[in-house]
Amino acid sequence: MGFTSDILHSNRKGKVRHGSVHKPVHHSVSFSFDDARELAYVFQGKKSGYSYGRQVNPTVTALQEKIDLMEKSYETIAFGTGMAAIGSTIFSLLRPGDHFISSSFLFGNTNSLFQSFMSHGIETSFVDATCAENVRAEIKQNTKLVFVETIANPRTQISDLEGIGELCKSKGLIYFVDNTLTTPYLYSPITSGANLVINSLTKYIGGHANALGGAVSVFDNFEWRNLSCIDDRYKQGAPVNWIVKQIKKKGLRDFGASLGPEAAHLISVGSDTLALRMDRISSNARALANYLDGHSLVERVHYPGLVSHPQHKRAKKLFSAFGGIFSIEIKDQIDCFDFINRLDLIACASNLGDTRTLCIPVAHSIYHEMGPSRRKEMGIADSLIRFSVGIEEFDDLRLDLERSLI
Ligand SMILES: *Cc1c(COP(=O)(O)O)cnc(C)c1O
Repeated sequence: MGFTSDILHSNRKGKVRHGSVHKPVHHSVSFSFDDARELAYVFQGKKSGYSYGRQVNPTVTALQEKIDLMEKSYETIAFGTGMAAIGSTIFSLLRPGDHFISSSFLFGNTNSLFQSFMSHGIETSFVDATCAENVRAEIKQNTKLVFVETIANPRTQISDLEGIGELCKSKGLIYFVDNTLTTPYLYSPITSGANLVINSLTKYIGGHANALGGAVSVFDNFEWRNLSCIDDRYKQGAPVNWIVKQIKKKGLRDFGASLGPEAAHLISVGSDTLALRMDRISSNARALANYLDGHSLVERVHYPGLVSHPQHKRAKKLFSAFGGIFSIEIKDQIDCFDFINRLDLIACASNLGDTRTLCIPVAHSIYHEMGPSRRKEMGIADSLIRFSVGIEEFDDLRLDLERSLI
């Protein structure tokens, strides 16, 4: 079945009472048992069931199953935010003295989180992940994991997803991919050998900027039995279940950054139209990037759909479209704040993946805390403005830019 047909009916087919087409919002923290032995079996992992709201909720489970259909994953674990998904997963897999390699082109808060891991004794190397050889050069005896984003925000660098996948496979490293900017509709990281995939559900999957959420999808394509960090008590059944349990217990349960049922419902409803939105968003973004690329007041446009983009060929090969994020550097004679203030339709806001087109002066906001030297490393100019393109009619967006770029 097609992407949308598959996910659209997934709730309905999951034995929902009364023929409800949506999984109901189960506002319950506790779940009672008629038989105390049954409760014990659930707590002991001998039976599946609902123990306590921080760990499981039926509405959240239905969303997790939907993400599994999208990512073709073995099992997905939802969290309260994308950051919680990344942080809890790495926390449950790595130990002080372990080393991991990350792309240096990262979502700002992920960069900040990895700095925190370093101060807790987990070594991190940041590399230009657009070439797998840079990753290879950093591999050490204690390297356990490689983390990359598919398309990096705001400069839209594209990781060497296939090359790094082959490298991780040959070296036995966990390959952890952030698929937020591509979404499972434009790209399936499992095709490049990803073992773990994180999606911020807040962005395109939820799609309407009305709920925060994150998810980690686990794949059965790694020798999970070789991981030394897994608690002996979780080693039941196939080794892929060990890792799922480790993340659920050590990550989700112990940290408690759980997704609530209300947010899960909003995200689930939003996700029904992911494919339609991504088609419209990608076509709007491509046309706008082309328009701005030819504009006399624009110095540079970063968008994977432009043939001038350094990884254009890779994006074309791997992704079914080029996505909705581009950034521009404007010429010195215009002030980036004044330009943004002249925009009428396009909103100045942090966030991406909304149905509405948004823009933000990157160096002065989301990447401010990082400081000038790290910004320089990441190629973030002071005049860089990031756009997250929405589903408005293209002519209205173009006109807004045309009237403001003066
Ligand atoms: C937004 C974002 C995150 C974090 O997601 P939240 O849901 O905001 O915590 C992680 N990675 C990328 C690429 C993002 O854009």
